[in-house]
Amino acid sequence: MYDCLIIGAGVVGAATARELSKYNLKIAVLEKGTEVCQGTSKSNSAIVHGGYDASYGTLKGKLNVRGTRLFEDLSKELNIPFDKCGSLVLAFNDEDEKKLEELYENGQKNGVKGLKIIEKDEILMMEPNVSREVTKALYCSEAGIICPFNATFAFIENAMDNGVELFLDEKVIGIDKGDDAIIVRTEKGIEFQTKILINSAGLYSDEIANLAGDYEFSVNPRRGEYRILDKKVSDIVKHVIFTTPTKAGKGVLVSPTVHGNIIVGPTSDPIEDKEDTRTTDLGINKVDEVALRLVPNLALNETIRVFAGVRASISQGDFLIYESKNIKGILHLGGIDSPGLASSPAIAEEVRDFVAKYINLVKKTDFVKERRAIPHFYDLSDAEKEEILKTNPNYKKIICRCEMITEGEIVEAIHRNAGARTVDGIKRRVRPGSGRCQGGFCGPRVLEILSRELGIPVEEILKESQGSNIVVGRTKGVL
Ligand SMILES: Cc1cc2nc3c(=O)[nH]c(=O)nc-3n(C[C@H](O)[C@H](O)[C@H](O)COP(=O)(O)OP(=O)(O)OC[C@H]3O[C@@H](n4cnc5c(N)ncnc54)[C@H](O)[C@@H]3O)c2cc1C
Repeated sequence: MYDCLIIGAGVVGAATARELSKYNLKIAVLEKGTEVCQGTSKSNSAIVHGGYDASYGTLKGKLNVRGTRLFEDLSKELNIPFDKCGSLVLAFNDEDEKKLEELYENGQKNGVKGLKIIEKDEILMMEPNVSREVTKALYCSEAGIICPFNATFAFIENAMDNGVELFLDEKVIGIDKGDDAIIVRTEKGIEFQTKILINSAGLYSDEIANLAGDYEFSVNPRRGEYRILDKKVSDIVKHVIFTTPTKAGKGVLVSPTVHGNIIVGPTSDPIEDKEDTRTTDLGINKVDEVALRLVPNLALNETIRVFAGVRASISQGDFLIYESKNIKGILHLGGIDSPGLASSPAIAEEVRDFVAKYINLVKKTDFVKERRAIPHFYDLSDAEKEEILKTNPNYKKIICRCEMITEGEIVEAIHRNAGARTVDGIKRRVRPGSGRCQGGFCGPRVLEILSRELGIPVEEILKESQGSNIVVGRTKGVL
């Protein structure tokens, strides 16, 4: 019998697990993926938004501002790559300027700090590469960029350090009301019993709600397509550069990433299939057109990858966090589209307050609040490098030449709590395959290391999800 079960190990489920792990509770996270962070949390703009965009009075407005503030301390405690680089929404005409005024007013009401409307000269001083056609901009010093993968991994690792259990490849297929507990059934035929159930299933949160007999919302997936540019053009902008937002979303942005690339996108197009993460000519062309209006000499030919993510949008337009009408003790987190990443620590607090209505929350005296990041060997000082090499020669071997990643980092990523099981899991934790060659050189080596460390044949190593095996057989018996 658990006190609390969480369905879904995206950034929201992981942040929730970490928040609840501060208390004397028996908690487990059930995740259908082979790894943590395989849903929307892996493909987004990675912005910790200031909070001026979501309308005053909405949950999005409130939780975005709170979440962004919480990330300042959390990023230090949990060693999450986070850079409060600030954002600029650019205006090019009277209509855009009117929109900036509205955003400014809305931001003030939401309690966003560090907002101001700035003139052309100042904009061009801050960002010499944005279009000379710019007339004004809304500057927000509170906005920043984050690594969404490592945010999720850090939350779940720290939650597990504090006693949370994680079940992977554990798809929830049934929810029933028992006599004294909520019964959660999984595809593997396991029955979990819990006092409280948190539905943090992202794109599938509506289907999980339906399993509990709740039908208040349905997810209307919206796809966002992106380009990632090579590090060699990283100097082009220093802030997150936005167009003025539209009804469809915050619009296209050009932004640095915490890893030194430039991200350009996204689109916002309704799609039928929640798993449809295709990129399209039409989508990428749309991105290019707007991005070049913002930053005319953006070197789009330096693209190293295109990708798409899918938003769990709902018709209500706001986050919909509510208790099941049917089974007491179930909390649905519906419509957690953007700014769900920025809001995740604040959503976790909402969940904590819900749990407190049912269970007397007693703080742990031995809660471990800090989490150490996997060191990027290449960035360490000579003294630090020598120290590591005394005990671990694996840090001597470079596996990824683009990102300068050593075998030591990869091995550590595998053996951590909620450690990597797949090639993409390694990539998201320590970045081999994220550079210019996109894994062309290091991919086979990563495969071998995973196989060796996990003790499973190379044919069984997955790229990401079930069925994505990379090696399908041996040629003449040789790998
Ligand atoms: C294009 C795009 C751009 C965005 N940009 C930003 C941004 O810049 N800033 C920002 O704040 N937000 C942004 N967002 C939103 C943000 O990415 C999401 O709000 C956030 O990642 C949602 O996290 P989650 O944990 O709710 O969902 P997910 O990450 O999707 O996690 C849900 C998990 O539930 C699991 N699951 C589903 N069904 C089951 C089941 N039956 N049993 C067990 N497990 C199950 C899934 O496998 C998944 O791992 C963006 C989103 C998109 C798509």
